[in-house]
Amino acid sequence: MKTFYVTTPIYYLNGEPHLGHTYCTVASDALARYKKARGFDVKFLTGVDEHGQKVERAAADVGLSPQAFCDGLVEKYKAAWASLDIDYDYFQRTTNPAHMASVKKIFKKLYDRGDIYKGSYEGLYCIPCETFFTETQLKDANGKVSTTCTVEGCGRPLERVNEEAYFFRVGKYQKQLEAHIEANPEFIMPVSRRNEMVNNFIKPGLTDLCVSRTSFSWGVEVDFDPGHVIYVWVDALPNYATALGFLSDDDRDYKKYWPADVHVVGKEITRFHTIYWPCILLALGEPLPKQIYGHGWLQIEGQKLGKSLGNAIAPAPYVEEFGSEAVRYFLLREFAFGPDGNLTRSALINRYNADLANDLGNLLSRTVGMVDKYFGGALPVCEAVASPFDGDLVTLATEMVGKVETHMDNLHFSEALNEAWNLVRRANKYIDENAPWAMAKDMDANQAALANVLYHLAEVLRIMAIVISPVLVRTPAIIREQLNITDAALAAWDSAKTFGSLPRGVKVTKGAAAFPRVDKPEAK
Ligand SMILES: [Zn+2]
Repeated sequence: MKTFYVTTPIYYLNGEPHLGHTYCTVASDALARYKKARGFDVKFLTGVDEHGQKVERAAADVGLSPQAFCDGLVEKYKAAWASLDIDYDYFQRTTNPAHMASVKKIFKKLYDRGDIYKGSYEGLYCIPCETFFTETQLKDANGKVSTTCTVEGCGRPLERVNEEAYFFRVGKYQKQLEAHIEANPEFIMPVSRRNEMVNNFIKPGLTDLCVSRTSFSWGVEVDFDPGHVIYVWVDALPNYATALGFLSDDDRDYKKYWPADVHVVGKEITRFHTIYWPCILLALGEPLPKQIYGHGWLQIEGQKLGKSLGNAIAPAPYVEEFGSEAVRYFLLREFAFGPDGNLTRSALINRYNADLANDLGNLLSRTVGMVDKYFGGALPVCEAVASPFDGDLVTLATEMVGKVETHMDNLHFSEALNEAWNLVRRANKYIDENAPWAMAKDMDANQAALANVLYHLAEVLRIMAIVISPVLVRTPAIIREQLNITDAALAAWDSAKTFGSLPRGVKVTKGAAAFPRVDKPEAK
């Protein structure tokens, strides 16, 4: 069986999970579910990054040990992911002893190879971003040197540090990395992100990276030089491999699932994933991940995610009010996955009412309602009398599945959902074209034709239940329950490509509305 390994970043534990983490995690979950539906042997990793000075300080601020501080936050992450039906296989923590042991081995291997050497570091450091800067990196286009952090969205003051430190010879791997990016156009996606990495960071020249600190202790110690703590990114990035058992006693999963098919990351950390992580792997002689996908950021009501927004940045209030299905759907449908997006309450309500309540929810309730009303809940198995509108509907349904696959394979979630909804909208139009309520006025003459129309609607719903399943994970069961579909073969992905798989003589069971309309004032 073909394997597929997808990862989210391990989220930095200086606070509770917010919608930015949610966006990335829901997308990765949808991709994992899609690949499973397509028959891949899938592993999906998420987790948390617990080490570093920022966590140490945040814990001290609330009077906790760093470990106790992290343990508390981990539960909040796990609860958030459970509330959103995130179905991960591994939840990696950088305090996991097996991970820490492997990171020590990685550091030692690189040292033994001469790729890590001891020197001294004097320069500027952004603690919130855990990022070192050389003067060159702080220069803007006019040669002016910034005194604040230049990581997008940061801008906080830099601290001057002067320490004995270890360095990783990143520059040594520049040519190899450039050749890899050149030979593998899908290695960094989307294309805009690749151009940014190549032009702004790689082409100007990679300089050696400071990979240890001595000014704090919350991290993985260099075992051959106590007092040195391994730089948090060199601790964090290998988690994608250590979660699979890399350099541990049991590395069967590593052998089976590495290299990762895609690391899904936010654009602000694309640099670490497309430069430092590949260089570490090149130095270790291990294969590189097949793709790093740097998605855009979410804004809330037009503002950047930040503490000033209070509870609006947490997923919980949205899940409680609209349900996990609506939140998952909105995040993946409303914005393309590369550029930034803006989550507003009014857009969420509009999207919910238009796509879920009106388009899909109504198609289900109308179809079930009409089978119930005109045929007492069971369509007759009679000689087919086709409608002149069947051909168009069937063609659209059949072609839709392939389009959804192409978009999903490219992490174009919004475009995939839009293709699926074209079928829902077409089916609703098909109801209007056939006017079943008019046919029902003369059941003696129109029984077979009416049954044919309702059969087509039920088949569209069966197909929809399949193609929406990576994103809407509870709704397919509701659809199947109301259409009494119990045969697993009728829920298999490939069966969506054959219109007419559903046996005639559909029986329905009326149920509650899948998506009751939300009629609420837009502003809270
Ligand atoms: Zn910063």
